[in-house]
Amino acid sequence: MRDFSQDHHWLSINTATVRKSRGADLPLPQIIEACARRGIRAISPWRDQVAAAGLNEVSRLVRSHGLALSGYCRGGMFTATDEAGLKLARDDNRRAVDEAKELNALCLVLVVGALPGALAGKAAHKNLALSRSQVTDGIADLLEYAKQADMPLAIEPLHPMYAADRACINTMEQALDVCDQLDPSKSGALGVAVDVYHVWWDPKLQAQIARAGRSRLLAFHVCDWLTPTNDLLNDRGMMGDGVIDIPQIRGWVEAQGFAGFSEVEIFSTGHWWQRDAGEVLDTCIARHRSAV
Ligand code: ZN
Repeated sequence: MRDFSQDHHWLSINTATVRKSRGADLPLPQIIEACARRGIRAISPWRDQVAAAGLNEVSRLVRSHGLALSGYCRGGMFTATDEAGLKLARDDNRRAVDEAKELNALCLVLVVGALPGALAGKAAHKNLALSRSQVTDGIADLLEYAKQADMPLAIEPLHPMYAADRACINTMEQALDVCDQLDPSKSGALGVAVDVYHVWWDPKLQAQIARAGRSRLLAFHVCDWLTPTNDLLNDRGMMGDGVIDIPQIRGWVEAQGFAGFSEVEIFSTGHWWQRDAGEVLDTCIARHRSAV
């Protein structure tokens, strides 16, 4: 297992972690500058942040600073109630692939979606099996497009508490079943993003990481699970402040040959987004050394 204690060579910052500084929106160009100043070599930006700053401008900044993208957030949300909705999702996902390509991302992260309408507060139906089949179909379609662009797709299984509204793929096993179905040759075009926040509790985690193997492990996301957790979405903890044994999981991932970035992804309305972004980045660097 790699020694992270001496440097932050393999640290990536998911830019949602500092999307707010002292409670105010922080534009992506400023986030990029702040990361570059600290010798952070990689980021993973969100599409809304890129759109606000302009794709060309972000692309220019990323290149001028020599930043890698450990991933691009995000594609997915494949489910809908009708053909028109499915087509909208398909077109939007293709644009996400194009943007990821322009930014030279290592993968496009997929949060696959769940019951249509649930995120807005009213689910159109209760048929999770239907949603799961739409997700598989959506990924299959996108995979053909992404292969031509040479952009790997990383399915991110989300914690089961999001099964209704954000993602109906909730375990590594489920995600890998889809991978095996759509990409049986393990071509590298389709894999998983292992986010410790979503999968740490899973008794099958170690076995499923081994099943994934090198070719399917496309991204590794870190933060921590706080006790208590006060918000289902935006109360993620800084590494070392919660109950996840992050080094153990990193060890399992690296035992398969994963040698990429550890991407810090913290949504924290009440705490970290209230702090100064520079202080948050400095803390990420310190905890990457001590707790990842
Ligand atoms: Zn994640």
